[in-house]
Amino acid sequence: MSAPTFAPEPYVSDVLLAYRDALLEWWRLGVEVQQPSAAEVISRIERVVTLARKVGEPRATTLREAYRREWARETGYCPTCGESGPLHEGHPPSE
Ligand SMILES: [Zn+2]
Repeated sequence: MSAPTFAPEPYVSDVLLAYRDALLEWWRLGVEVQQPSAAEVISRIERVVTLARKVGEPRATTLREAYRREWARETGYCPTCGESGPLHEGHPPSE
């Protein structure tokens, strides 16, 4: 008997959580750290990009949009440019 196809695979949900985590870390860096080191910026970007590939498009973009709205609502900062205030629409993707 095969497993029901609607159940999320554990691997997939782990990847989705890791992707969300990587995005939150990336946006947090823009708000909390005035002068992040190049190495830190690169390592966080690489993590986001690697996980986005694992998540796959178009889901990665759809999720990123949902997460950035959630992040802006909870923190009061625009995740893309790090300015306080409402989320700015029309920014290019943050990665
Ligand atoms: Zn902005």
